[in-house]
Amino acid sequence: MRELSTRCCVVGGGPAGMTLGLLLARQGVDVTVLEKHADFLRDFRGDTIHPSTQELMYQLGWDEEFHRLPHARLDRISIDLQGRPVTFADFRRLPVHHPYVAFMPQWDFLDFLAEKGRRFPSFRLLMSTSGTELVMSEDRVTGVRASGEDGELEISADLVVTADGRHSALREQAGLAPVTYAPPMDVLWLRVSRRPTDSIPFFTASGRGLVSIDRGDYWQLAYLIRPGGFADVRREGLTALWEGITELAPDLADRVEEIASWDDVHHLAVRVDRLRRWYRPGLLCIGDSAHAMSPAGGVGVNLAVQDAVATANIVGPRLAEGTVEEGDLARVQARRMWPTRITQALQIVIGRRLFRPDGHRVLNVPLGNDGARVPAFVRLFRWFPALSRVTGRLVGIGVRPERVEPERVRV
Ligand SMILES: Cc1cc2nc3c(=O)[nH]c(=O)nc-3n(C[C@H](O)[C@H](O)[C@H](O)COP(=O)(O)OP(=O)(O)OC[C@H]3O[C@@H](n4cnc5c(N)ncnc54)[C@H](O)[C@@H]3O)c2cc1C
Repeated sequence: MRELSTRCCVVGGGPAGMTLGLLLARQGVDVTVLEKHADFLRDFRGDTIHPSTQELMYQLGWDEEFHRLPHARLDRISIDLQGRPVTFADFRRLPVHHPYVAFMPQWDFLDFLAEKGRRFPSFRLLMSTSGTELVMSEDRVTGVRASGEDGELEISADLVVTADGRHSALREQAGLAPVTYAPPMDVLWLRVSRRPTDSIPFFTASGRGLVSIDRGDYWQLAYLIRPGGFADVRREGLTALWEGITELAPDLADRVEEIASWDDVHHLAVRVDRLRRWYRPGLLCIGDSAHAMSPAGGVGVNLAVQDAVATANIVGPRLAEGTVEEGDLARVQARRMWPTRITQALQIVIGRRLFRPDGHRVLNVPLGNDGARVPAFVRLFRWFPALSRVTGRLVGIGVRPERVEPERVRV
């Protein structure tokens, strides 16, 4: 077995892991990021880059370059309700340099971070390398065993960070178990070609719900179904699915059959959970491995990135000195638990108001002239439009935005 020694081994090259690797290397810390896939090319991941993450790009001096990557912009989240749009979140007045959500394929974002990371001499990214097992010495995590294209590898590290997503196997091995909350919905991710003449709102609801993301030559669609309802959707068949989509987005009637088989339907079983304890000696969990978020508001990527920034700010200097203590890891959790709790609580409360737990009508929101009562929660946004600026701030910037510390390594 090959051996490698590093200050910090980050398992998982998603938004949390890549951001952390990059920021630690920027501080001059020797860091090794393991990513089990050979590339970042996976469809239907969190593709929403919120103002908070774009502000980090600005702080890092990379925002112009970042915004040259292909993306679409959304400055408000509105829902078409009985023929009138109701705005739930308005980003336009946020005190940031880029007051909108940028829809960017996650692989472009991760490639960008990888490219930036490689400029720092202490950054090591091992693709096609899977962290398989924690190495323990008494009660302390002292490294990771990994498996890559060149065989087995044992990496010793002062700190192991799991950023390996919502199904983290390593956190389980560390004995860290999440508290789980009932998700309000599941999501089917779909793709249908787009024409410039299409007129499809970002979010439409009529018992069912559809989020339509403009990706240039195609629409990325999130079709909301009740939790655990995918088996029923399959039983009802593709034709029923096509009808459900066209009811919400009639412009797609002539193209919905591009969803030609169940292989074109990507089911996201939504999870909402969080660890009670994010660390143990020598180990820290961040991003989805510490807290899986509901897709409401598209905040998952951004919370993961914010965790990484807080970790780099708090733990980075200690890693550079070679003295990471459990108390440092506790400080990361203390800083990031609060935004996680608040965001999840809002997602759950809003989810309970908007979603119905049973039947086909997953959304408690009427459309068109179906005469159904508009929930009080939604009416509030009609009566007090300024509320959408508050939600815009909560969604776009979050509860406790992080700032990157000044650069230590010049490249
Ligand atoms: C289908 C889908 C759609 C989503 N849509 C949105 C959205 O629109 N907006 C939003 O904000 N969020 C969305 N999310 C959630 C969002 O993708 C996550 O919250 C975010 O990516 C979390 O980042 P992360 O780095 O913590 O984890 P992940 O993005 O899950 O990254 C974990 C990485 O670790 C790698 N990995 C796993 N195990 C190992 C191992 N043992 N060794 C090495 N590597 C490993 C994985 O390959 C992956 O690259 C969506 C999630 C899914 C699944």
